[in-house]
Amino acid sequence: MIKLHDLEVTYGQFVAVKNLNIHVEKGEFFTMLGPSGCGKTTTLRAIAGFIQPSKGTIYLNNRDVTLLKPEERNFGIVFQNYALFPHMTVYENIAFGLRVRREKNKVVQEKVEKYAEMVGVEAHLQKRVTALSGGQQQRVAIARALILEPEILLMDEPLSNLDAKLRIAMREELRRLQHSLGITTVYVTHDQEEALIISDRIAVFENGVIEQIGKPEEIYSSPQTESVCRFVGESNTLTDEFIITLKQAHEGCNLELGYTSYIRKERIKLIKKITQKAPDTIAVKGSVAHVTYSGMSVTYRVMSSGSALEVVMLDNQNTQFTVGEEVILELDPKHILQFRRRV
Ligand code: ATP
Repeated sequence: MIKLHDLEVTYGQFVAVKNLNIHVEKGEFFTMLGPSGCGKTTTLRAIAGFIQPSKGTIYLNNRDVTLLKPEERNFGIVFQNYALFPHMTVYENIAFGLRVRREKNKVVQEKVEKYAEMVGVEAHLQKRVTALSGGQQQRVAIARALILEPEILLMDEPLSNLDAKLRIAMREELRRLQHSLGITTVYVTHDQEEALIISDRIAVFENGVIEQIGKPEEIYSSPQTESVCRFVGESNTLTDEFIITLKQAHEGCNLELGYTSYIRKERIKLIKKITQKAPDTIAVKGSVAHVTYSGMSVTYRVMSSGSALEVVMLDNQNTQFTVGEEVILELDPKHILQFRRRV
């Protein structure tokens, strides 16, 4: 559906993105994720036609659209700052694209009502758009993009101006809406949790290149590079001393020394004593150095073989540990992610 082939975009001498090869399937929710400045927005703007790539080709349904103007590409676009017209009503903001196309009033009215209802702003159509809350304004921006029934929806950090609770509610709604319309979506965010929850597939960017493309569970469980591992999810770094302890505790353990090793915080289990060890797991000793309670879960900092490990466990009255307590850490070595050390 959308294919980027060896895409490169430069600003003067500066290469913002290079060697980009992405294939977004029809109906897919595809997210470009990465830290600030890694080239996500640049790529989205190149897809939309706002910037010309210095190399490579952009295909839409096998048609080369690289040289087409934005308005010839049939993309709907939603930006972080909503980009609504402040002097207009909600109705006229949503209707805007249809007015430009000189659609009949009756068609405009039907469609405005349909899309306003779809995003939940039908009660506010006659208000000035500035009288709406941030979340409502972003819904208007989404309706304004959808009303043109584009083949593809491009979204650049559409939820980042909203407060945390609303962001969570809106991302679920966005996903539902995208699913029900089956609209191919390319989404930009720097929020890894948002990307994991909302996407069919994710491309993780770093310094203008793609480090990995995959389904959320692949990106999270099997990061291909150290930077993906560090950017997505929360991990503990393990010392060589800790790896040696694991190897001594379990003969068949094939972990390597001399690598940078990580384990996700929820992949370690704390127990008081070994009653029946699960097969494939290794148990080592540690002591609790700090406890942080955060409602649903508790984070324990545990010292073990020269590593300070954070262990996240659901708050469960039966398994509480206190500072200074000797504990057993149980983990499956296949959950340890190892990357060759950079020289
Ligand atoms: P953010 O999440 O902060 O928006 P991003 O991943 O979307 O970051 P881009 O906005 O694509 O990153 O920027 C990629 C790189 O290109 C950055 O180093 C940025 O400074 C540079 N850049 C972006 N726009 C321009 C421009 N118009 N002129 C020169 N350099 C630019």
